[in-house]
Amino acid sequence: MRIEKLAGGKPATLDTGRTLTAKNNWRPYLIAAALFAAVAGLVAVFWLSQQISVSGERRRSADRMSLYLSTLVSALEEHQHLPFILSWDPLVVRAVEGGDTDELNLRLESFANEASIDAIYLMDPTGLTIAASNWNESPTFVGKNYGFRPYFKEALTGRRGDFFAIGATTQQPGYFISEPVYAASGEIAGVIALKVDLTPLTRAWREGGETLLATDPRGVVILASNPAWTYNTLSPLSRNDRDEIASERQFGNEPLEPLDYDPASRFGVEIDGTRYIQTVRDVGHLGWTLHYLAPVGPINGQAWQSVILAASALLLMVVAFLLARARRVRSALSASQEERRGLRAINRKLAEEIEERKAAERRLERAQKELQQVSKLAALGQLSASVTHELGQPIAAMRNYLAAADLPGNGIDGEARELVDQLNGITARMEHITAQLRFFAHREPEKLTRFDLRDVIGSVLTMMQPDLDGAGIALRFDSVDKPVSAFGDMFRIEQVLVNLIRNAMDAVAETDKPEIRIVLTEDAGEIHLNVFDNGPGLSEEARTRADDPFYTTKASGAGMGLGLSISASILKDHDGKLSFVNQPGGGAQFTMILPASEREVALETGGGRGTV
Ligand code: ADP
Repeated sequence: MRIEKLAGGKPATLDTGRTLTAKNNWRPYLIAAALFAAVAGLVAVFWLSQQISVSGERRRSADRMSLYLSTLVSALEEHQHLPFILSWDPLVVRAVEGGDTDELNLRLESFANEASIDAIYLMDPTGLTIAASNWNESPTFVGKNYGFRPYFKEALTGRRGDFFAIGATTQQPGYFISEPVYAASGEIAGVIALKVDLTPLTRAWREGGETLLATDPRGVVILASNPAWTYNTLSPLSRNDRDEIASERQFGNEPLEPLDYDPASRFGVEIDGTRYIQTVRDVGHLGWTLHYLAPVGPINGQAWQSVILAASALLLMVVAFLLARARRVRSALSASQEERRGLRAINRKLAEEIEERKAAERRLERAQKELQQVSKLAALGQLSASVTHELGQPIAAMRNYLAAADLPGNGIDGEARELVDQLNGITARMEHITAQLRFFAHREPEKLTRFDLRDVIGSVLTMMQPDLDGAGIALRFDSVDKPVSAFGDMFRIEQVLVNLIRNAMDAVAETDKPEIRIVLTEDAGEIHLNVFDNGPGLSEEARTRADDPFYTTKASGAGMGLGLSISASILKDHDGKLSFVNQPGGGAQFTMILPASEREVALETGGGRGTV
């Protein structure tokens, strides 16, 4: 019981319960905090990865920018000095002084071809083209007036002019460089100019997979890797700017619409919905700006990759943690199961021990009871012996006096006869009681012998036959035709049988056809001597208490309730026992069970156990 309490008992359960409840209370918060930390960590990874990528990209952009800036600058400067040199060419000077231009046309054409220049052309002071490298092409610059161009006007002031514009004749964009041409008189008599095609540059950007654009001081995109952006503006143009551009016819009929451009996007700028990291540089004296644009997309992709990597690592850690925890829980569980199994085993053993103890206690109690009974019976035996001895003489004397008084001729009749008969009856009753007492009387031990039970039955029946006949009881004895050998105190066994037959006789006293049957059998080393009767059988109470000392259902004086108790005790001393049941068809069955004589040794070594 105590172990059970310890094993599944209160203290352990309560403690564990309390701990678990406390843990469970905190668990949702812990999980929420862990999730929050994980998300915050991943956001930090994303942000950090973005920052690293952005700063890496900025560095790379700066390098690329230097490269593209130098190519643009060199493209612009490559032919800077050619107009100046040409302005000193005698053919050019002669032409502005009104000389022949045919030879000059050819020379300009060959120069243009040689230097891969779009066009070289010579204008008079009004801006009219008088000679051009494309003199024989259509359209040709010859005969066209470019007096409105700023580079022309600049040259007329004696300075070098340069300008980016869409060609008024060819509609092709180009970079124009101009120089004044001086006549022999020292006056400016014309302007020599050339037009450089910059489209190969933008083509190279595009083919290189780069995103670049160049804007003029007004913010008009003049060169772009994406042709769709060209001649758009980064911000809306002012009216003034528009008027000026129109007067110079710089961009032909281009509408110069603002580009979908957000200069304040995260990391840089956004054009047409795409975000870029922007690196800008000024391009020389023209006031141009070169924009190198690195798309943010790959940066975000890299950042997401880092996040996925970090999340996978986190997940792996969580899985590893959960696995380790599951392993720990499993081993703790199996340890506790082992412990519980151990406790259960101890419990079982303890329960067994308790059961054994209880059985031992029961045995002890029974033994004590038996001892009490034996000592009671022993005392009763001694008492009976002395009472029988003391009363024997007076009763015999009384019987003799009565017999003498009753002799014929003594004239006993009337009241005297009645008295004598009454005294005879009382004497018979007293003899009956002493006879019973004799049965209990303690005898000196007989010599233990081996005897045939058939002989015991025979002599008992001979002795009791007159009583049976007197009571009109039929007695049948079913014997076996071989000796049934028992060992012990033959006289005591006789006493038991007499007692059983007497009880049976009492039981059948009221029966219509009273009958007693004795059946003797021997089987498997056991002798069974059964006494059946056709009386009313044992009452409900007698079935359990018949062999209790002093239990009787008979009238006072008729029975003392000791017969079966002593009989059981005698049989027990012979290593046998007494059993009694009701027969299915009515009547009682009493059985003396004795060991067959092979077991005599046990009785002999019992040392006087054959006596009561
Ligand atoms: P007593 O014969 O003095 O009563 P016993 O110990 O011999 O004492 O018997 C105890 C009781 O057992 C009897 O009073 C009786 O009730 C019951 N008993 C014994 N033998 C029989 C029997 N053959 N049939 C019915 N009851 C019996």
